[in-house]
Amino acid sequence: MAKHTITLIPGDGIGIETSAAMQRVVEAAGADIEWEVAEAGAAVMEKTGGSPLPESTIEAVKRNKVAIKGPITTPVGTGFRSVNVALRKSLDLYVNLRPVLSIPGAGGRYEDVDLVIVRENSEDLYAGIEFEEGTPEAKRLIDFCAAEGAGVIRPDSGISIKPISITGSDRIVRFAFDYAEKHGREKVTAAHKANIMKFSDGLFLKEARKVAADYEGRIAFDDRIIDAFCMNLVTDPSQFDVIVFPNLYGDIASDLCAGLVGGLGIAPGANIGDDYAVFEAVHGSAPDIAGKNVCNPTAQILSAAMMLDYIGEPEIAQKIRAAIAKVYAEGEHLTGDIRKVTGSSKPACSCTEFTDALIAAL
Ligand code: NAD
Repeated sequence: MAKHTITLIPGDGIGIETSAAMQRVVEAAGADIEWEVAEAGAAVMEKTGGSPLPESTIEAVKRNKVAIKGPITTPVGTGFRSVNVALRKSLDLYVNLRPVLSIPGAGGRYEDVDLVIVRENSEDLYAGIEFEEGTPEAKRLIDFCAAEGAGVIRPDSGISIKPISITGSDRIVRFAFDYAEKHGREKVTAAHKANIMKFSDGLFLKEARKVAADYEGRIAFDDRIIDAFCMNLVTDPSQFDVIVFPNLYGDIASDLCAGLVGGLGIAPGANIGDDYAVFEAVHGSAPDIAGKNVCNPTAQILSAAMMLDYIGEPEIAQKIRAAIAKVYAEGEHLTGDIRKVTGSSKPACSCTEFTDALIAAL
């Protein structure tokens, strides 16, 4: 087995705990990995007085091409912009891939959910192009819209720009179709709000239809307006297979899908570009439970399994998934989030005890 060097960004909040658990499990499963630890977030900013995403961290990912990270806290409303978004942008990780799979024993609303979320990761309202209310720039934009007859914006508005391009739409939809073909899936659904946002979501849908034509006869295609999609999803998830979204809807739908199968504690993900990949759970840093050794590390461990597939170690990935399935099916060592959704009266175990049980199952 080859030795792999992987950049590990532990993150903050529960990321410290889930990253440590992930490392233990990956090593116990037999993967030969050298972890190159790199920092990001508020702590490194305070320590160095520099950026929350140091250049050395970006360089470490570029050098090794593959990274796994824990969640990183983003201050709400003020302070620095999301490190997660900045990392995805600087490495052009335009795909956010989030498989949603039921794990028997995890307390999902449905027993047999098997969906794949493909979320565009580089544009839309996450482009970070914003104008603060009352600034000369916001005022110029408001005046421009009025002069062009584009519409009246109240003078006391803050403005976020929603760019969606042909390039961005084409490559994400193509990824969704290629993924479907490679993984034996039958259908791609595009979710959007093209009826209201004709030049952004409308463009996304137009490009999706064009790409779909290239796969006609091999992979089926349909589309849903995002609000109707949400209702359809919670009433019958089995009607969906691979779903491709512009950035914001994909972010929201990911948490919705996680809720269908037992919660954020078990939802893995990956950010993928043409040159680099960064694997991370869907969940955030969960400040409400951080540092208490009660979080569920499954999502990050499943993200590591996705990473092992990606670096050509599918047997080890499968071994880890099998161990997870065993621990959940036995139901003796499960964390508090899962005990809550299953309504079990059995005591919750700690993150460490859960990890020990997984390693024993390996
Ligand atoms: P969150 O995902 O951190 O937490 C939402 C809820 O789910 C909380 O009640 C939390 O306790 C629970 N939860 C999440 N993960 C869990 C786990 N593994 N085990 C058990 N329970 C878990 O979302 P939030 O509270 O909205 O965000 C907190 C911070 O994380 C914010 O600063 C946000 O910006 C950041 N965030 C980071 C990322 C990332 O790094 N990729 C993703 C999402 C949010």
